[in-house]
Amino acid sequence: LLPSRYKSTSQHRPFAFAFDIDGVLLKSSQPIPGAIDALTMLKKHDIPFILLTNGGGITEAERVARLSEYLKTDIHASQFVQSHTPFKLHAAQQKFKNVLVCGGVNDACRHVALEYGFPHVTIPFDILAQDETVWPYHKLTREERACTRPLSSDPIDAIYVYHDPRDWGLDSQIALDILLSEGGRIGSRANHASPEKPNPTFKQAVPLFFSNPDLLWSNLYPNPRLGQGAFQILLQGLYKAVTGMTLHSTIIGKPSKFTYDYATKVLKAHQERLKPHLPAEQTTVYMVGDNKLSDIAGANAHKWTSILVQSGVFRGTVEEGKSGDIPADYVVKDVNDAVKLVLSKEGIF
Ligand SMILES: [Mg+2]
Repeated sequence: LLPSRYKSTSQHRPFAFAFDIDGVLLKSSQPIPGAIDALTMLKKHDIPFILLTNGGGITEAERVARLSEYLKTDIHASQFVQSHTPFKLHAAQQKFKNVLVCGGVNDACRHVALEYGFPHVTIPFDILAQDETVWPYHKLTREERACTRPLSSDPIDAIYVYHDPRDWGLDSQIALDILLSEGGRIGSRANHASPEKPNPTFKQAVPLFFSNPDLLWSNLYPNPRLGQGAFQILLQGLYKAVTGMTLHSTIIGKPSKFTYDYATKVLKAHQERLKPHLPAEQTTVYMVGDNKLSDIAGANAHKWTSILVQSGVFRGTVEEGKSGDIPADYVVKDVNDAVKLVLSKEGIF
């Protein structure tokens, strides 16, 4: 039974939530006060929501199992979009036979990419295991060697960065080798250009994709840490320094349009399961995030209503949150206040 202060679900107009995770629902694995109450309230009223994060590195199923435990709420993989989830669309297009996947712990991201449907996934350790002179500064541990696989006879036809590389030296050397190779063939070299003598007819051998643009992230260390965006800058700088030319890449994750388009489809499918009688295409989406650059910028560009919380990265005042280059529609203390605000605005209570 619902407590008496709640009206019975009187939702006529479709609305839904997209929540960022870090700084909104959790700090590391600790729930932010009010987060569990907020999600419980949504469950109670059957309000659709998804989680939209620039995190990654493990499969969606593994991540939602952990999140469900931390947040004491059942969260299904179909409500969850992490940084690399939209790469499922690339796998479905079957454009690439053999992809190099960088980042994450050991071969965890290989498993993610195989689950998405990429037919063959190579990781930097596979290449190092075959020839240690590729990068002589990394001696594979027994555990690392155990997760390697024999190289495919097919060339690499795309490079993906799924998560922060654990060995930036190894991964940047191998990525650069492939970018300068003959059609992605490991060990080959097509471009012998240099900054003094650039070769304008050379195109990088394969496309390069990053799963999130975040330059910095924060953990318990007092100062921000370098993120995947920093690895991207490193690779761009190296490519320029070695060839004199500009590296081309595609970056998804928040705030990219590719990721918000994907999230919109996921939310719509979830909503149609939960509220089949409401017109999903007229949905008002409320994005609750703690980061102006990713959450709020992406939401505003996608015509979602943006709600900035003060429980994470953003530490400014309400006025500061609502102004500047990336103004949020609303600024509230935390996720619980965000949900209460919307439910009262939508006439639920
Ligand atoms: Mg965040």
